[in-house]
Amino acid sequence: MPTANPFYTMPFRNLGLDTKILRAVQDAGYTEPTPIQTAAIPPILAGHDLIGIAQTGTGKTAAFALPILTRLMAPSVLLRRRGTRVLVIAPTRELVLQIDENMRAYAKQLPLAVATVFGGVGEQPQIRALRAATDIVIACPGRLLDLMGRRCADFSALQYLVLDEADRMLDMGFLPDIRRIVQQLPKQRQTLMFCATLSREIETLTHEFQRSPKMIQIGRRSNPAETVTQLVYEVPKHLKPALLLHLLRDPQMDMVLVFSRMKHSADRIARNLESKGIKTAALHSNRSQNQRLKALKDFKSGAVRVLVATDIAARGIDVDGISHVVNYDFPMHSEDYVHRIGRTGRAHAVGDAISFVTPEDRDELRTVERFIGRGIVRKRAEGFNYSAAAPPGQLVEAERRFPQGQNHGRPQRPAHPFSPHRPGQAGHHQRSGPPRRWRR
Ligand code: AMP
Repeated sequence: MPTANPFYTMPFRNLGLDTKILRAVQDAGYTEPTPIQTAAIPPILAGHDLIGIAQTGTGKTAAFALPILTRLMAPSVLLRRRGTRVLVIAPTRELVLQIDENMRAYAKQLPLAVATVFGGVGEQPQIRALRAATDIVIACPGRLLDLMGRRCADFSALQYLVLDEADRMLDMGFLPDIRRIVQQLPKQRQTLMFCATLSREIETLTHEFQRSPKMIQIGRRSNPAETVTQLVYEVPKHLKPALLLHLLRDPQMDMVLVFSRMKHSADRIARNLESKGIKTAALHSNRSQNQRLKALKDFKSGAVRVLVATDIAARGIDVDGISHVVNYDFPMHSEDYVHRIGRTGRAHAVGDAISFVTPEDRDELRTVERFIGRGIVRKRAEGFNYSAAAPPGQLVEAERRFPQGQNHGRPQRPAHPFSPHRPGQAGHHQRSGPPRRWRR
């Protein structure tokens, strides 16, 4: 019977994939392809270059991995088997490891070897894997370029290049490295590029690296997954720790990813939760590779209930079953908001995204709402004491930010946390009362 979404009517077995790969997909528990898989697999199998624009958590990895593995299993290709045929480049170690994990799961019945290359760990095993011309290499650009410069890698037999999260790699300043890597690859290859948004820079890359690529766009670029329920809790800054603890009394919040803007506050949040008996780990770039891997492993296994992460470190976190994403600090960029909340509600599952919004975050919240094209429901935490006073340190902070001299001669006074008449700001405000949305 036809379903509302035509993408879901095509079963995996009709997509032309290798039977062993179909079995692996079944073992992974996938019953039907996601829209990007339905759209991307046939053109990749047909040998086209492709640019895939899809929001995070849509099943992008399988969308490129399954058809590439199928093509590698063609008898004529198997006979000619030699050297590294597939290179996947991704921005972060976490993402590389996740692609590696997925790739190994899909290729588990195939005679293909997979290796990863990224910084922050010993290079000898990576050099050995590159020298052994492992079939599939998944790499971060920095370490890969370093090892290529030292002639540790031979990509002369390369057939497939995948640039995953290409937009993020550009944001992170990897473009020069990527250009240098691609210049050293065979021109005769299939190039697949994936990104969350299409920008002019990405279009330039497309012209540089691809030949007549097919373009696939799934959903609006700023659309968070429909399976995620979004909520905003308005809260003054000093009450955020208490509000988080209060919300975590709900046993349904059993696998919670908390986002903090700064590394040190990620540590502070984690310490605070641990001190209250909530198993928590922190994930950010000041932690060693081993600490980061352990944090992710413990989160995945359920050994810790809460993972506190910064944006960059959380990039590519692919953990099924995250029940809640909490924006403890509201993101500075709307795209980060979409990426963050995409960590829950992945593939076909559902999830909640909760944002703490302080009076200082109002403008960012409005920008996000414009970006995603809808308002986000404001909620008040039941049973939570909103009237607790700010600790003295917060008043000092307010005074530091809005000193007497900028106050147009008005007396300095602490304000109600949601009043726009914050010390030193009254003269700059156009409106006479709080914005309508913030009134209760
Ligand atoms: P990705 O966008 O590649 O990071 O994938 C997001 C999550 O969706 C991963 O946990 C995948 O294992 C999962 N996934 C990928 N394809 C499917 C599918 N067809 N059905 C269910 N889950 C999937």
